[in-house]
Amino acid sequence: MMKAGEIARQVRAQVPGLVVRGVRMLDVAERVEEIIRQLGGRPAFPCNISVDSVAAHYSPTPGDVSIIPPNSVVKIDFGVEVDGYIADTAITITDNATGEVLKTAVEEALKAALKVVAAGVKVSVVGAAIQSALARYGVKPIKNLTGHEIQRYSLHAGVSIPNVAAGDDARLVEGHVYAVEPFATVAEGSGVVVDASPATIFRLNPRQPTRRTTPEEEALLENIQKRFNGLPYSLRWLKDLGGIEDLHQRFVKTGRVKAYPLLVEKTGKPVAQAEHTILVERDGCQVVT
Ligand code: MN
Ligand code: MN
Repeated sequence: MMKAGEIARQVRAQVPGLVVRGVRMLDVAERVEEIIRQLGGRPAFPCNISVDSVAAHYSPTPGDVSIIPPNSVVKIDFGVEVDGYIADTAITITDNATGEVLKTAVEEALKAALKVVAAGVKVSVVGAAIQSALARYGVKPIKNLTGHEIQRYSLHAGVSIPNVAAGDDARLVEGHVYAVEPFATVAEGSGVVVDASPATIFRLNPRQPTRRTTPEEEALLENIQKRFNGLPYSLRWLKDLGGIEDLHQRFVKTGRVKAYPLLVEKTGKPVAQAEHTILVERDGCQVVT
């Protein structure tokens, strides 16, 4: 866990230098993933590069030619896996005034959340800290995006950590690992994200297939399982297999593979995000990333 966190910290420090005017999103994502591998980790999921009203879940596709647009609010969200242990972190990079306010707000909200974290604290208390910090900047939390517990080989496991004073009475547990990730939009925004297309991130569903599979399908499923061990992946990471798109699309249609929808702010307003992975301790927490 700590090694994954150390790698994530080093990558984080390099991200602002990668996100420059005119750069291709594909190059940024592949560079982030390459640095993770060079440092001895593996990407725990495809590097997300989500622009403006896209809050999360865009990862460049194979052959993607889109560039990071100027005057934008860009979230770079990546994960590092070492032996199944995952560090999940995100930063916002922006070159406009609205983005600056949103970025400062989510970073301060994350700090406020980490201040109240300790073993036994209710997740709603963490959400309340985030919500009131965001309110001080006049911005609105995205109430249907949450932080999450992280377990070995499982990115979203156990309890959720809301970005508002809501949620159940679940309490943080000493020794457990969580990602805390405030998302915010401007005051005029809806504060809600909705599902959109395209899906660019996939995960093999753990359940058994309900229909008979061909040997060709079985080989691809086994390959995906072996490569990613149930963690999310990009079709970029299956490029070497060549021409599997149609087969893969069938898995999505039949539910064998989960496709993560793009998450977009309902009224099209820009969204910022800050995220750290933490280890909860008796009297506080250790920031892993
Ligand atoms: Mn993340
Ligand atoms: Mn996360």
